[in-house]
Amino acid sequence: MKIKNYINGEFVNPILDNWIDNYNPSNGEIYSQIPNSSDIDLKNAFKAAKNAFPKWSETTLEKRSQILSNIAHLITEKLPELAAAEAKDNGKPLELAKSIDIPRAAANFQFFANAITQFASETHDSVGLNAINFTLRQPIGVVGCISPWNLPLYLFTWKIAPAIAAGNCVVAKPSEITPMTAFLLGEILNEAGLPKGVLNIVHGSGKTIGQAIVAHSEIKAISFTGGTQTGAHIAKVAAPMFKKLSLELGGKNPAIIFADCNYDEMLEATVRSSFANQGQICLCGSRIFIEASIYQKFKTDFITAVSKLKVGNPFDSTSDLGALVSKPHLEKVRSYIDNAAQYGGKVIFGGNLVSIHNFESGYYLEPTIIEVKDNSCVLNQEEIFGPVVTIMPFNNENEVLAMANDSSYGLSATLWTNDLKKTMRISKQIHTGIVWVNTWLLRDLRTPFGGVKNSGVGREGGLEALRFFTEPKNICIKYN
Ligand code: NAD
Repeated sequence: MKIKNYINGEFVNPILDNWIDNYNPSNGEIYSQIPNSSDIDLKNAFKAAKNAFPKWSETTLEKRSQILSNIAHLITEKLPELAAAEAKDNGKPLELAKSIDIPRAAANFQFFANAITQFASETHDSVGLNAINFTLRQPIGVVGCISPWNLPLYLFTWKIAPAIAAGNCVVAKPSEITPMTAFLLGEILNEAGLPKGVLNIVHGSGKTIGQAIVAHSEIKAISFTGGTQTGAHIAKVAAPMFKKLSLELGGKNPAIIFADCNYDEMLEATVRSSFANQGQICLCGSRIFIEASIYQKFKTDFITAVSKLKVGNPFDSTSDLGALVSKPHLEKVRSYIDNAAQYGGKVIFGGNLVSIHNFESGYYLEPTIIEVKDNSCVLNQEEIFGPVVTIMPFNNENEVLAMANDSSYGLSATLWTNDLKKTMRISKQIHTGIVWVNTWLLRDLRTPFGGVKNSGVGREGGLEALRFFTEPKNICIKYN
């Protein structure tokens, strides 16, 4: 099967007829091909977007909102098909795709369908000067959206929905590792009545078509989610062109567990925050710090709980963990486990490949717990992005705060305590963009989302996303 680019409302082959193999991680087989798009394909996608912009940017908010709502409804209607495609393309459990990925993709469109009707701008009455200022929030024009493989449709739509809601036209590129649901979205866009050219989807490798989108002189804003190194490279290319940039990058998130927390809730959530989606969520808590007085109990109970997780083929409804996304990624994750001792860690649970009956060539790995002694070790400093967490004890609040902040990343943190003062002290002092207290991954789409330090710049979510995808223009009128 061949996946096609979606340009000007039509499905087209890459002009140079170059293709990339697409793997099914559950069995290691190549099951489709995707366009390895070039500059020529980008030229066509850009042209379509540019032509669509004058009309789309002047389309009423009600109309735009209605179309986004239509898209949301169609995604919901086609949930079984989209979830199955996501599980096959990514290796994630089908149940997870059904309950999280696809519903969230629909919610992204529905949220911005509503949000755009409430997006207002400011006026400033220059009292005593007989002048009034008002600020327009105008769409930027053609913008670029580039997304990663871990939550394919979820993150792809998280960018596209606010971009088009705000009146922009888009050239978007999903990850070449998980292109399928973005491809299926094209059909939905047509059915929903999105005018041709408003959203164009080009497939291919980051180094060619991704790079070309970023370097395109007339694509004025780039919303990117992916690795920190890629983000740094994108910033280097885009900065001299003064593009607007939103970069959502990697993380190495601390989970801080105090003895005074609600223990059972914490344990259940910590298993999820460690291993959901095979640990391939940028928000997973991968450095777990436990107050010394409950460390031994936690260690025993955590191992017991994790040992109950079932690694299985993604289509088996009893699988808690599916396959990792690709062979190279599996090898990268394994290299951290294999070298754990050298990095000062001790594997206390898991660490082995798993062979699944009838899926023997898939990329399966046990959920893995490594005990470390020092937060400065490689295992606590580098993003592994797989089903691997570290645990270590701490003695007091200052010590754990220092360790949590001793990281080049600053995406999210999870805090488990029932002490309100401690909650406030730590939440204020921790260097992350997001803090969850006594919960994990509870998302309200109105809230700002993003990280500090090497986890990125800019915020997405709610009105922040609409601000990013618009350019403020102040108009000052003098009257006598
Ligand atoms: P990646 O950086 O390899 O790729 C992300 C996207 O960028 C892909 O579409 C890729 O093709 C494209 N790309 C690669 N090189 C490019 C270039 N030179 N120019 C333009 N585009 C290019 O990341 P990945 O491996 O797909 O995703 C995993 C990473 O994403 C992890 O580090 C994870 O933490 C991060 N992530 C962050 C968030 C967040 O919200 N902060 C969310 C999910 C994932």
